[in-house]
Amino acid sequence: MYFTSLTHADDIGSHAYLLDLGGTRIILDCGIHPKKAGYTTLPDIRGLEPDSIDSILISHAHLDHIGGLPFLFRAHKEAMVVMSKPTFLVGKALLHNSVNVMKSQRLELGVEEYPLFSHREIDEFSRSWNRRTIGQRFRIDPSHAESPVTCEFHPAGHVLGAVGISISYRDHNIFYTGDIHFEDQTLSVGAKLPEEGIDTLIVETTRGAQERDPDYTREKEKLRLGETIAGAFDRGGSALIPVFALGKTQETLLMLHELMGEGVIPRDTPIHIGGLSTKMTMLTDKIGDEWPRRHSDMELLEDLPTLRPLERGKQIPGARPGHIYLYSSGMMSEHTVSHVFAKYILPSSKNAVLFVGYCDPDSPAGKIQASEDGDIIVLEGKKIQLKCKVERFDFSGHSPRNQILDYIRRVNPSKVLLVHGDTPARQWFAEELADDDFEVIIPPDGERLAL
Ligand SMILES: [Zn+2]
Ligand SMILES: [Zn+2]
Repeated sequence: MYFTSLTHADDIGSHAYLLDLGGTRIILDCGIHPKKAGYTTLPDIRGLEPDSIDSILISHAHLDHIGGLPFLFRAHKEAMVVMSKPTFLVGKALLHNSVNVMKSQRLELGVEEYPLFSHREIDEFSRSWNRRTIGQRFRIDPSHAESPVTCEFHPAGHVLGAVGISISYRDHNIFYTGDIHFEDQTLSVGAKLPEEGIDTLIVETTRGAQERDPDYTREKEKLRLGETIAGAFDRGGSALIPVFALGKTQETLLMLHELMGEGVIPRDTPIHIGGLSTKMTMLTDKIGDEWPRRHSDMELLEDLPTLRPLERGKQIPGARPGHIYLYSSGMMSEHTVSHVFAKYILPSSKNAVLFVGYCDPDSPAGKIQASEDGDIIVLEGKKIQLKCKVERFDFSGHSPRNQILDYIRRVNPSKVLLVHGDTPARQWFAEELADDDFEVIIPPDGERLAL
C-alpha cells in the first residue's frame, strides 16, 4: 500500500493524492491552482501512464479539488469517478465556468494550452461519473466482484456536498477528510466523521497557522457583520460583500436573512446577487433536502423577498444607498462582477466593503485589505482612491486548528498524513503532535510513501 502526493505546491491549490492499494490505483481529488496558469495549475498527473487509474474520488466541488478532473479523466476514461450528488451538479457548473475563464485567459495572458478541456468534454465525460450518498458503501470496481477496495462517504461540513472518504483495503482503513468544518454554519451542518478503526488518516490543515480568538462565536461575528452594514446605511451608503459563488454566497444570504429577522438591518433591505452566485444558489435550492443542511425547507431564490438577481448580460448598475451587493468573486478577481462593481463602492466613505472569506494577499481583495484609507487601488486598469470602510470577518468553512487536532487524537491512527495547508500550517500540527504515539508525516510531493 502506497500514498503519493501529486500536489507539487506548497500552498492550497492543485490537490491530488494517489493511493496504490495492492495494485488498485485511486486518485483522491484533482484540483487546479488558482494562482498559476496553464499546465502548472494542474497537479503532477501528466506523467501518469494513460489508463493506469482505476478510480477518481472527489471530496467536493471547490476548484482546488475538482478543477483538473476533466483533464485527468481524458487520459483515464475507464476510471470509476465517484462524488456526492451536490458535488456532481455544482461541480459541473463550476467546471463549465472554468472553461470560460480559461478561454479569456488564453486571449489575455497568451496561455496557448488553454482551455485545458472543453464544454463538450465536460458534458460527455460526466455522463459516466457516479453519484453516491452518505453511508452508501461502494466497491471501487464493481465489474470485478473480487475487488477488495470499498469506500464510503461521510458528511464533512465545509460546503454543500462535501464529504470525507473512507477507503478499506483488506484489513487496512484509510480516511481522507477533504476540507472539513465540525461546526454548523448557517446553511451547512457540521462534519460527522468516523473515529474508530482508522489506520491511516489523511487530514487537511488549512488553518494550522492561525489561532482563533477564544471568545469567537459565529453568532457574535454575524452581529458585527450586521452592525457594519447598518453603519453604512446610517451614513447614507451601501455595502459590497465579495463572495465565493459556492458556499459563501448561500451562507451569507441566510445570515442576512437572519439579521433582517432580528432587526439588525432593515427587513426590506434589497440584496443583489450576481455572477456565478445566482447559478450556484439555484443549484443549492434544487438539491433541497436531498442533502443534510439547515433551513432545508427554504428555497433561497424564492423565499427571500428582497433578493434581486443581476440579469445576465445586463450592465451592472451603480450602487444605491441602503442596498447590499453580494457579488462574486470572493477575491474580486479581474472581470468578475465584484471587481467591476467595486468602483461604485470604494471611493466614498459612506460605503463599506465586507470580506467574509479567505483572500489571497496578491488578489485585488487582498490588496484592498492591506491598504489604508486614501491609498490608491487599481481596478480595471483605473486608479481609485480607497475611502470606504473595509472590514474582515471570520466565517471560515474550515475547522479551527484545535478542533482538527482533537479529532486526530480521538482517531488515534497509526499514521497521520498532513495535507492541504501551507508549510507553517502543517508544521504547527507536526510540532503539536510530535509527542503522540502515532507517526506524523508531511508528505513530500512526488514521493511514494509505504502505508
Ligand atoms: Zn474547499
Ligand atoms: Zn480546498
